[in-house]
Amino acid sequence: LAEPDGLGPLLDRIRSGLGATVTARPPWAFEASGAAERLRRQFGVSSLTGFGLEGLTGAVSAAGALLEYLSDTQKGDLAHFTGITAYSTDQYLVLDPATRRNLELTRRLSDGSKSGTLLWVLDHTVTAIGGRRLRAWIEQPLISVPAIQERLDAVGALFDDGFRRAEIRDRLKSVYDVERLAGRVACGTANAKDLVALRNSLAVIPRLAEILAGTGGAAAGGTAGGKDTGALASLGSRLRPLPEVVELISTAIVDDPPFVTNEGGLIRQGYSEEVDRLRSASRDGKRWIAALEEKERQRTGIRSIKVGFNKVFGYYLEVTNANLGAVPDDYTRKQTLTNGERFITPELKEHEQLILGAEERLSALEYQLFAEVRAKTAAFAGELKANAGLLGQIDALASLAEVAVDRGYTRPEVDDSEVLLIRDGRHPVLDQILGQDFVPNDAALDTGDRRLIIVTGPNMGGKSTYLRQVALIALMAQMGSFVPAKSARVGIADRIFTRVGASDDLSSGQSTFMVEMTETAAILNLATRRSLVLLDEIGRGTSTFDGLSIAWAVAEYLHHQGTAGCRTLFATHYHELTELAELLPGVLNYSVAVREKGDEIVFLRRIIKGGSDRSYGIQCARLAGLPRPVIERAKQVLAGLEAERASHLSRVEAAATGGGGAGLKGGPGYNGPGTIQLSFLEVPPHPLVDELRLMDLAGLTPIEALNTLYRWQERLKKDG
Ligand code: ADP
Repeated sequence: LAEPDGLGPLLDRIRSGLGATVTARPPWAFEASGAAERLRRQFGVSSLTGFGLEGLTGAVSAAGALLEYLSDTQKGDLAHFTGITAYSTDQYLVLDPATRRNLELTRRLSDGSKSGTLLWVLDHTVTAIGGRRLRAWIEQPLISVPAIQERLDAVGALFDDGFRRAEIRDRLKSVYDVERLAGRVACGTANAKDLVALRNSLAVIPRLAEILAGTGGAAAGGTAGGKDTGALASLGSRLRPLPEVVELISTAIVDDPPFVTNEGGLIRQGYSEEVDRLRSASRDGKRWIAALEEKERQRTGIRSIKVGFNKVFGYYLEVTNANLGAVPDDYTRKQTLTNGERFITPELKEHEQLILGAEERLSALEYQLFAEVRAKTAAFAGELKANAGLLGQIDALASLAEVAVDRGYTRPEVDDSEVLLIRDGRHPVLDQILGQDFVPNDAALDTGDRRLIIVTGPNMGGKSTYLRQVALIALMAQMGSFVPAKSARVGIADRIFTRVGASDDLSSGQSTFMVEMTETAAILNLATRRSLVLLDEIGRGTSTFDGLSIAWAVAEYLHHQGTAGCRTLFATHYHELTELAELLPGVLNYSVAVREKGDEIVFLRRIIKGGSDRSYGIQCARLAGLPRPVIERAKQVLAGLEAERASHLSRVEAAATGGGGAGLKGGPGYNGPGTIQLSFLEVPPHPLVDELRLMDLAGLTPIEALNTLYRWQERLKKDG
């Protein structure tokens, strides 16, 4: 089916951004009333109201189309889809695709791999279901304080009790992908190995529930204060050990069945009399044939006579050419080979019939019995799925506790406030990679007088890392994880927005600057007072005037409580923006500390109070290896620019305070700043230019001219 016109760029973004497969489906599949009818039929209900789908026509269309797609492609029974829940973003912290990408939650920006992502740090799960669960938690952090506390309680209990954690993780190692297994059982596509895997997984549950309840020996009384046992015990008490399923599979199916289900070898001895009888008939027949070889050797005197079997002729007796003379009369020739002949006897064929007949019936009967067991198990699909959900959660929680212990994380304080306070925070990924070499940093944001923090400092100083680290710590807290910090207090954010770096979105054909502005527009339009916004280098992809003006206006807009007034970290190389702290009540300046040694700079990786008054761009350019003359010339230009700077800034200030300053200082309406005239790129002439202009060339000898040039060059070197 062709993809609809005009959606190409969007679909490409979905493919590349989410790594998703896109399949076009016919429009009728999405038609609302048909879709609703399909869902009602599937769930056996007369109305979808019970599922909370009232009024959600878009969702019903999509779900109905999905169901149509499944019944088209899966062919099998879809009976295990027994219900539907509306996913609503107001239960979750909203993370737009750009933010997910920028924060490298599950895929690294550079190559899409898992390595170096938050998932990579946090995923120490031991089961496939746990791994999927943890990934979902990272992608959908919570916004309900009690729900977050419940997870933190469980992680805390596992954090405190290493014995219990170790035993839980150890037991979970024998748990297979119960979710997929349950799906296959329900669809009737599970094989006997799947059933055994399911049984082995279920068999773990009784002990696991004991450990979770805190009654399992090592665990008892192990947690600090005992309070946290509640969260774990409640998970444990909801697990269903399903002894009838364990029993059924154990008695019916052998421990190590083959993958194929129609060639026998599935059913355990003692489960069915008929299976046992057919098996012994087949076994007896084979034993008779095995004895035949020796019997015929005795009877014919041919020592080399052999019994064999192939699919075309069945069982035969093989005699080499040298012995053909001794073949008895009751042998019938069946096949001639180069160095011998193959024979059958009536007696041999009779036994062959018995064996093959028994085996054929056996395979059919075993398959039938196996299918019965599978169908009986399928009746528990709902319970199995519920178990899968719980086991996945337990695994994910234990994984979070394991990482927290390993990396020295602490439990964040999560509440409904609008603050974000982090002491000695670390970037989870760099913390893992650099260990002791990572320099921790504090953060303090709220929606009052610390709502917009401007972070200035040189490139490579650590600004992006700092921004990401603050966002990741908030996100980790909201997913119920401990955090890499000495302490953290996280007031719930409804959304985290990031605009980080300049990433070209080539697949969508948008320029870097357009992408940047589109993302910024989305942030400004959607951010609420509860949001956490991180902007890194806004306005980079255009001229300095444009860029600085846009950055300035964006900062003001975010700061203003009539528009957003949310917690914002704004990293910029426009150190001019530090002036905002003087003009707006909620703005603070931070910068990345550097130590200057002569012309060199050393990055200290520490975020300190106060803005930086220069960009250190030229030093960075030097570090990057730009040719010396370019560096020198850049310094000259900079000197010229800086001479103009003071007057320029006072003009900006005048414009900002004069034009809309009253409104910005906390008044109700948003008044943009007045027009800002920027003219600081007019380079003042170098003093040498005047000297050159006044020079009397006619009065100079060549050697004097050369000397003058030399002097000038020396002076330029010194000035620069
Ligand atoms: P910026 O955004 O200022 O250009 P980055 O945040 O990209 O700088 O940091 C540059 C590099 O510095 C990072 O790749 C990282 O290796 C290192 N770095 C950043 N912050 C720290 C820190 N707190 N401790 C140790 N190394 C850091």
